[in-house]
Amino acid sequence: ADAVVVGIGARPATAWLAGSGIELGVHREVVTDDRLRTSAPDVYAVGDCASFPSGRYGERLLVHHWDNAVQGPRTVAAALVGEAPEAYDPVPYFWSEQFGRFVQYAGHHAAADELIWRGDPATPSWTVCWLRDGALVAVLAVGRPRDLAQSRKLIDAATPMDPALVTDPAVPLKKAVRV
Ligand SMILES: Cc1cc2nc3c(=O)[nH]c(=O)nc-3n(C[C@H](O)[C@H](O)[C@H](O)COP(=O)(O)OP(=O)(O)OC[C@H]3O[C@@H](n4cnc5c(N)ncnc54)[C@H](O)[C@@H]3O)c2cc1C
Repeated sequence: ADAVVVGIGARPATAWLAGSGIELGVHREVVTDDRLRTSAPDVYAVGDCASFPSGRYGERLLVHHWDNAVQGPRTVAAALVGEAPEAYDPVPYFWSEQFGRFVQYAGHHAAADELIWRGDPATPSWTVCWLRDGALVAVLAVGRPRDLAQSRKLIDAATPMDPALVTDPAVPLKKAVRV
């Protein structure tokens, strides 16, 4: 291309919270605990503006996706009506459509995780899997919604996988587990 215009990233607009007593994080996001409580009593935060500690991934997550903005309020609503919600620790998920392709990602991965191609990226349908200590932690599926659906359960259960089987796109992911 002669010119490329890139618009990447988002930053929570939380300047108005300065001095409120609500703790902000390094990305200017509202810092919550695993029940999405802020540092101020009876104040909760969900969605793009808030980070939460993920026991699943061992780090604080700031997720800028629609599914997170939909799931988090369940935890908050439970607390507000007097129930004792479980810790908020989802398998993050998003989908998008890019150039006619259905793109889905589930989980969370780091650069150090083992990357496994599943199918040929030169074709319309392929998947990338990331393993950590042999367990599935994240999946990117392009035109392969079945891979995504199966992987969400496998990620949730931290299922140990067989890398040789994961590589073969003809083998369903749920059958590519280590036995
Ligand atoms: C261009 C773009 C494409 C995206 N594509 C995808 C996608 O394909 N898939 C996906 O999963 N996610 C996508 N997202 C992310 C998704 O839109 C967000 O994760 C989601 O909207 C977050 O919801 P939210 O309620 O936390 O915040 P928002 O939807 O941002 O809602 C926050 C609201 O608060 C209002 N507000 C802010 N400050 C104040 C204030 N001081 N007082 C009163 N109101 C205030 C804002 O005006 C806004 O209406 C995309 C986002 C963008 C920008």
